[in-house]
Amino acid sequence: MADPKGFLTTRERELPPRRPVAIRLMDWKEVYEQGDTATVRKQAGRCMDCGIPFCHQGCPLGNLIPEWNDLMWRGEGRQAIERLHATNNFPEFTGRLCPAPCESSCVLGINQPAVTIKQVEVSIIDQAFANDWVEPHPPERLTGKTVAVVGSGPAGLAAAQQLTRAGHTVAVFERDDRIGGLLRYGIPDFKMEKKHLESRLRQMQAEGTRFRANVNIGVDISWPDLRARYDAVVVATGALVPRDLPIPGRDLAGVHFAMEYLVQQNRVGAGDTVHDQITAEGKHVVVLGGGDTGADCIGTAHRQQALSVTNLAIGIQPPTERTEQHPWPMVPNLFEVSSAHEEGGERIFLASTIEFLANEMGEVRAIRVAETEYIDGRRVPRAGTEREIPADLVLLALGFTGTEGQSLGDQLRLPFERGNVERDDDYQTSEAGIFVAGDAGRGQSLIVWAIAEGRAAAASVDRYLEGETELPSPVRPTDRAIGI
Ligand SMILES: Cc1cc2nc3c(=O)[nH]c(=O)nc-3n(C[C@H](O)[C@H](O)[C@H](O)COP(=O)(O)OP(=O)(O)OC[C@H]3O[C@@H](n4cnc5c(N)ncnc54)[C@H](O)[C@@H]3O)c2cc1C
Ligand code: SF4
Repeated sequence: MADPKGFLTTRERELPPRRPVAIRLMDWKEVYEQGDTATVRKQAGRCMDCGIPFCHQGCPLGNLIPEWNDLMWRGEGRQAIERLHATNNFPEFTGRLCPAPCESSCVLGINQPAVTIKQVEVSIIDQAFANDWVEPHPPERLTGKTVAVVGSGPAGLAAAQQLTRAGHTVAVFERDDRIGGLLRYGIPDFKMEKKHLESRLRQMQAEGTRFRANVNIGVDISWPDLRARYDAVVVATGALVPRDLPIPGRDLAGVHFAMEYLVQQNRVGAGDTVHDQITAEGKHVVVLGGGDTGADCIGTAHRQQALSVTNLAIGIQPPTERTEQHPWPMVPNLFEVSSAHEEGGERIFLASTIEFLANEMGEVRAIRVAETEYIDGRRVPRAGTEREIPADLVLLALGFTGTEGQSLGDQLRLPFERGNVERDDDYQTSEAGIFVAGDAGRGQSLIVWAIAEGRAAAASVDRYLEGETELPSPVRPTDRAIGI
C-alpha cells in the first residue's frame, strides 16, 4: 500500500498549475505546467489501496491504479511504468486527455477529494520517456500471418501494437497524410502536443508495425481486395460523420463543421500551409454544442484572437455537485470548466438556434436563438424569446452520427446499427476475419475506450488466426464502465 496515513496527512488534492491564461493564449503549447515529482509522490501516497478498488471498474482499461500509485509513491518509476503499460498502451494520451472516470469512482472521493489518478498516470509515462525507459518490444518470433488495420486513431494504434507484439505482420492504413486519427487532426496542441504521438509512433515502428499514410481503403484499395491480401482486417475508421443543423441559412459562408476548422489549425501547427484557412481572427465566433469538440473550438478561437466567443448549448446547465441520479461510484454529469472555458467567452445554456442570418454578401452575420422549452420531452424554441447574437463565424460541434461507411456497406455488405458497424462480442463483423474496434463500432466516444477496444479486438484477431491467444481482452463491445 502507498503511504498508510497518506490520505490523513495529505487531505488536499493538488494538480500542477495551468499556465496563466494571458501567456498560454499567445502560443499552442500545453496548458499544464510539468508536475513536480515531490507533489506527485505525495498525491500518489493518498491512495488507500482499497480492498475492492472501484477505480479499476471505473477505468475502461482496468488500469491497476493502486499498484502504480504505490510504486510512484515509493519512487520506483521504472516498475510503475511496467505496471501501467501492462494495461494501457498509451498512457501519455489518456494521462492528458481522459476525463478520468476512475476518479469519479475513487473510494476516497466519498468524503474527500479523489486521488489525482490521471496526474499520477501522466507523470509516470513522462518520467519514463524522459529516462528512455520506453523501449521497443519486438516479437521474439513471427507467425507469418498478416493483419491490415484501417484507421490510425487510438483504437487502430492499440490493435496494431498488440498484434505486432504477438508476432503478426501488421500494416496500418490511414487516408490522411499523417498517422494518428483524431489525436493528430482533431485534438488541438494545447491539450496534447504532437511530440507525444511522435514518440509513441517511433516505438511502434521500431517494433515492426508498418504505417501506410495517404491510402483510402474503399477508394485506393477496395475492401474485398484488402481482405484478400491480408489474413485479417481491423476496421478502426472512427465515427467522423458530423451531426448537421439543417435550419434556414445553413449554407451561408462562415458556417462550418467544427472538424473542418480544427483540422486546418492542426495542419498549420504541423507546419503546413492552408490556403483560405477558416480563422476566428477578428471575428465574433459562435460555437454550437457543449462537448469536448466545442471546447476545443473555443480554445482555438481564443488563440486565433477572436473578437468574442459565445458557446451555445441547447440543454440545461448541468449541476456542479453529484445528484441522486448519479450516486458514487457512477460518473456524474457535472458542469465542466475545462481549460478552454477558463480562457474566456460566454456560455449560454437552454439556447435553441432557429436561423443563421446573412449580410448583403451572403455571409453569416448573426444567429437567431430562443430559449429552449421542454414540451413532452422534446426541446423546442419558446415563442416570444427570440433574439440575435452577432456571428461572423459559426462552428457546429453537435456530435457525430456514425462512421463513414458507404464503401464498407457497398463493397462488403456489412450491416450497420445506428451509423456504426455491427459486430459480435468478439468484435467480429458478419464477414469472417473482419473486426471492428473503437468509434467505428461504438460511436463517438473516448480515447480510453478506443484503446480498450483496440486491445480487446487484437485478442480476438489473434485467437482467430492462431486458435488461442495470450493477449488480454479488457472489454466486450457491450461493456460500459460505471455510468459512462
Ligand atoms: C475534436 C475532438 C476532441 C476530442 N477530445 C477528446 C478528449 O479530450 N478526450 C477523449 O477521451 N476523447 C476525445 N475525443 C474523442 C476521441 O478522440 C475519439 O473517441 C477517439 O479518437 C476514437 O478513436 P478511433 O481510433 O476509434 O478513431 P479516430 O481517432 O477517429 O481515427 C479514425 C481514423 O480512421 C481514418 N479512416 C477513416 N476511414 C478510412 C479509410 N477508408 N481508409 C483509411 N483510413 C480511414 C480516419 O482518417 C482517422 O484518422 C475528441 C473527439 C473530437 C472530435
Ligand atoms: S485511462 Fe482514464 S480512467 Fe483509466 S486510469 Fe487513466 S485517467 Fe483513469
